[in-house]
Amino acid sequence: MSKTEEYLQRFMNGVIKRNPGELEFHQAVSEVAGTIFPYIADKPIYHKMQILERMAEPDRVVMFRVPWTDDKGNIRNQRGYRVQFNNSIGPYKGGLRFHPSVNLSVLKFLGFEQTFKNSLTGLPMGGGKGGSDFNPKGKTDNEVMRFCQSFMIELHRHIGEDTDVPAGDIGVGAREIGYLFGQYKRIENRFVGVLTGKGMEFGGSKIRTEATGYGTVYFMQNMLQRNGDSLEGKNVCVSGSGNVATYAVEKVNHLGGKVITLSDSSGFVHDPDGIDADKLAFLIDLKQVRRGRIKEYADEFNSASFHEGRPWGVSCEIALPCATQNEINEEEAKTLINNGCIGVSEGANMPTGLAGIDTFQEARILYAPSKAANAGGVAVSGLEMSQNSARITWKEDELEKLLETTMFNIHQSCVEYGECDGHVDYLAGANIAGFVKVADAMLSFGHT
Ligand code: NDP
Repeated sequence: MSKTEEYLQRFMNGVIKRNPGELEFHQAVSEVAGTIFPYIADKPIYHKMQILERMAEPDRVVMFRVPWTDDKGNIRNQRGYRVQFNNSIGPYKGGLRFHPSVNLSVLKFLGFEQTFKNSLTGLPMGGGKGGSDFNPKGKTDNEVMRFCQSFMIELHRHIGEDTDVPAGDIGVGAREIGYLFGQYKRIENRFVGVLTGKGMEFGGSKIRTEATGYGTVYFMQNMLQRNGDSLEGKNVCVSGSGNVATYAVEKVNHLGGKVITLSDSSGFVHDPDGIDADKLAFLIDLKQVRRGRIKEYADEFNSASFHEGRPWGVSCEIALPCATQNEINEEEAKTLINNGCIGVSEGANMPTGLAGIDTFQEARILYAPSKAANAGGVAVSGLEMSQNSARITWKEDELEKLLETTMFNIHQSCVEYGECDGHVDYLAGANIAGFVKVADAMLSFGHT
């Protein structure tokens, strides 16, 4: 075993010991450390100052009780969290997730990832994440509102426009952000940009809703272009049918590709004819207005069929996982490659397991890890913060251009740090480019 491998193993043993049972967090740290340790092997200052060890420990974690009353008058009890991971390069920034699977491990993995991602955007944003095990599915608007109000009664004292600026994530969309912002404003009597993803009437930014999905597709287009290729005429499998998936489909359509799958937690639909603008409009109504299940898409369109499980067995050239973590395992990664997949751009956070990533890397396909590929969302959130601070509103075409440029720059950073003999290791490139800025800021602060 080399010295670097020995250091890496010792480091990971420490992370596992200090964070028992937090499997998602171990996975996220391991994925990053595997590329950072070789990079810092000849840079002893990072070892001496224990930079990665410090980056793997959140600045603080807030955990709180969230009692609320359902429509029948029953008192319900949820757990709320805010993980403030690292504010070395700017205020904590990262989404809130409302989903029954939320626990400390999930939020720590997301907050850790967010620190690197936010650094990659080039904007002054630190990393954080939060949420609750509350399940918005099947709840009425009034129930969701009462939950959000109760959640904010505690959260408000930990956030602020220069301290910590949460946004949406799984289960937290425009409706929830509206309820949360309304309650913050009421408690604090201040109208400030304390949340992003707000409605246009109260300080939201154009393109924010679309940014994550669009950015994921721009990143894929950048990788293809570097190889003299494009999305034109390619079959694309997308998973998920929420915010990220929806706008990924829209951008693939703009760029001439054909999306043939979508999914939710009940299964996936396969539509070999492609999900065009009219079908996408049906999906948006189904998922965002009626909050229905993906099977209804197959009931509506004859060209489509519904299947249980995940969509990765469907033959495609491009895969865009846009649902949730660990939704591509080793077997599924192999199936994708055997069926001719040449590129994966991760819209969701950590959708591919470690063995799946190894499979993509060994096959040397274009593999864009989430912290680079889905950074467009938080980048436009950063632009929403700037607009709020300056009390101005930028135009849609300006913001779309900025998003495109940001994704291009992130791609370039990955190439800068990840290219070897003409092949780009986007995983290493993204991790190292994200690491350097935060690490060097931490060096400047001394022992903090
Ligand atoms: P949404 O809540 O809008 O949509 C989530 C989608 O994923 C739904 O289709 C949902 O299906 C599906 N899904 C959720 N959990 C599971 C599961 N356990 N198994 C199968 N399907 C599941 O969330 P977003 O689109 O906002 O987020 C999707 C991913 O993108 C997440 O990983 C998130 O962290 C990441 N992301 C989001 C950003 C944003 O701007 N929103 C920014 C960067 C990353 P169902 O309705 O059945 O639950």
